[in-house]
Amino acid sequence: MVFVLFVVNLTFHFPLSKIAPGAAGGSTICVQDRRTFGIVRAMPIAASTITIHDPPGVEALRKTLRLDPRVIRRVQAALCRAFLGANQALAAVPATERAAFAAAVRCHELTLERRRDSQRDGATKLLFRTADGQTIESVILRIQSGRSSLCVSAQTGCAGGCRFCATGRIQGGRSLSSAEILDQAIWAGELLAAEGRQLRNVVFMGMGEPLRNEEAVGTALDQLRSKHGLHLSDRHLLVSTLGIPDALRRLATRFPRVGFAISLHSARQAIRDDLMPLARHWPLPELRQAIRDVNALQDRPVMIEVLMLDGLTDTAADEEALIAWLQRLRVHVNLIPYNAIEGSDADHQPLRGSSETRIQEFLARLKAAGFETTRRHSLGTDIGAACGQLAEGRLNPDT
Ligand code: SF4
Repeated sequence: MVFVLFVVNLTFHFPLSKIAPGAAGGSTICVQDRRTFGIVRAMPIAASTITIHDPPGVEALRKTLRLDPRVIRRVQAALCRAFLGANQALAAVPATERAAFAAAVRCHELTLERRRDSQRDGATKLLFRTADGQTIESVILRIQSGRSSLCVSAQTGCAGGCRFCATGRIQGGRSLSSAEILDQAIWAGELLAAEGRQLRNVVFMGMGEPLRNEEAVGTALDQLRSKHGLHLSDRHLLVSTLGIPDALRRLATRFPRVGFAISLHSARQAIRDDLMPLARHWPLPELRQAIRDVNALQDRPVMIEVLMLDGLTDTAADEEALIAWLQRLRVHVNLIPYNAIEGSDADHQPLRGSSETRIQEFLARLKAAGFETTRRHSLGTDIGAACGQLAEGRLNPDT
């Protein structure tokens, strides 16, 4: 947080023009009177700064620096919509105030440490480092039609503990701030803009359970939608969750046009409990009622994700249970082939993906029962960027 120690003389416009190192890693901004160029007052600012995505903080700074509100809007437009990068965004600030503004405001929350590009399908995995030294991953998906999507992370690990997910093996993670979530999209937007592409979709399908970081995810959605933020259409935003009923209802009430996907995987309680330990807190009937409530709030179907696991989620009993469970829900079912993850799970037999034949049979059965159903084609399997694989790079640094 910036702290500014001064008493403003409102009669004059004092551009802040010099920054000097201060004690404890802080800085001192020297305020000059334009008429005399003498130093009027020194304003120490803390080593920590505010993020550009903190509207009250930026507004307070704007007033302190006496910047025209249009200057802030130009910085945000350059950073969040034109994706020109921090340096060009800061060029929108008048030269006399630029150094002070740059010293007080962070345009990026994350450091982009590494990218891995698929040799097969146009996916790119981005590895970021947070200010406190944690790593997170996001995935750019370049679809043939020219549309580009980004899969963002909401946490640095996950307490979900799902057996099929690399992120669930990371202990001691934390939730990301809304600015850290948003910055994944800004970095991706910059990389895509350099290719002449545009970021169109943002899906919360990366590391972590978004609804266990509800407030930050809600704020990030606000900023992804805002005309002062990335100005993305609600239709192009999707939050995927294992299904925490109350949080799901709250978020769907707040964002009735944003899409939601439920990682169901099995409509048989015992199988789901075994695959997704955290989900045991919210039994299937409770989850089903929450989806009904979301259906009542939205005019788009809820996506139901089913991971196709040989002998576990793809049996005839699974078909029957799923079809019964989906009755009277407005849903789109998405069947997901299993992507193997490294590392052993001592308590269980290794998971095996369903055969393609079985996936197609399952798909045909659901369609015959009247449910819109598709098979997901995961991108980035060769770079550990497909569904369930994120954070594999952290567990196995060579990947
Ligand atoms: S699948 Fe989602 S909820 Fe489960 S461990 Fe992975 S990130 Fe967490």
